[in-house]
Amino acid sequence: MSAAREPLDVAAIVAAIDEVLAAATRPIALHEPRFGGRELDYLGECIRTGWVSSAGAFVDRFEEEIARFTGARHAVLTVNGTAALHVALLAAGVSRDDEVIIPALTFVATANAVQYCGAIPHFADSEERTLGLDPSKLAEHLAQISDVHDGRCINRQTGRRIAAVVPMHTFGHPVDMAPLLDTCRTYGLPVIEDAAESLGSHYHGRHTGTLGRLGVLSFNGNKVVTTGGGGALLTDDPNLARSLRHLTTTAKLPHAWEFRHDEVGYNYRMPNLNAALGCAQLEQLPAFLEAKRALAARYAQALSRITGARFFVEAPGVTSNYWLNALLLDREDTGARDALIEALHKERIHVRPAWTPMPLLPMYRGCPAMDLRTTKSLHARLVNLPSSPHL
Ligand SMILES: *Cc1c(COP(=O)(O)O)cnc(C)c1O
Repeated sequence: MSAAREPLDVAAIVAAIDEVLAAATRPIALHEPRFGGRELDYLGECIRTGWVSSAGAFVDRFEEEIARFTGARHAVLTVNGTAALHVALLAAGVSRDDEVIIPALTFVATANAVQYCGAIPHFADSEERTLGLDPSKLAEHLAQISDVHDGRCINRQTGRRIAAVVPMHTFGHPVDMAPLLDTCRTYGLPVIEDAAESLGSHYHGRHTGTLGRLGVLSFNGNKVVTTGGGGALLTDDPNLARSLRHLTTTAKLPHAWEFRHDEVGYNYRMPNLNAALGCAQLEQLPAFLEAKRALAARYAQALSRITGARFFVEAPGVTSNYWLNALLLDREDTGARDALIEALHKERIHVRPAWTPMPLLPMYRGCPAMDLRTTKSLHARLVNLPSSPHL
């Protein structure tokens, strides 16, 4: 891929990373939560008042604060990001036997959520500049394989409807959303952003997850801020927000004592205990983001002189939260990649390769896909580096 032909200098890279992390106690995990604020106060308040479950003041407060921080009109909290993706797809109209376009290079939750709807993931390639869904390849692919009939986008090769596109902001780096949104508008496809990794990341001034019809966040233990487990849905559409709130609370109709439900809903609402943790964590988010940018800058500096690889930096015009820092090898050489990973693990620095591309997993083998050469290349060349804010 790259013009550089120099071999990977494993020893020099290990030394550079070792130097950046010199002050940290080993073993060093890929990403660890940090609880340095009012977590215990807020959790104690839940216990003292008895409001621990899926109603309570912290749920409302965390929802308002997430909406304010991201600029979304509405935020709806869920038990985790996967559940949020599931109901986002349902609310966008994805149903059985539809296809949903998602990147092949993603965490398995993106594909699983499609499958939960009875739909079929259709895998798209990523671009090297952003590590996310490649908008120009998507446009070419749709032009080649699809027809639009009565506002429905049909995959000519499978006869199935393509119902939505789910770009994912990889490791916090924003997808190139403007051309992607243009293409999706042309084909009448709703865009649901998997912004699980990108709280605090902006695309030309707008928070990721607020550019499409719906956005999804995750507050899992390894994300930028955590609620233990948790997620959120973002939308500007009040009707969509109402239906998401309904779907995530067993579709119960409001009534003082009667149990009436008007569809099959889900028990997906975030409990107050988790939202309390979220409120305390969100107060520290600006400091976490600053610390993560500073760490990324230290990696970039230390790795600027090595050969055979480069430190991945945000694209022009966007701001990444640098959730997970990444090193990109010049060559597709999984042997060299694994040698580097092993050498760093010996130093008790727990680096990782990127996820196995979805079509290589047994349950997603044979799903429709476009040419995935950049996905394959990135998977063979990428190594994630420890990225906790306290490093
Ligand atoms: C973390 C993550 C999710 C959601 O994960 P949960 O653990 O269910 O909160 C979804 N997609 C991506 C890309 C993720 O990284």
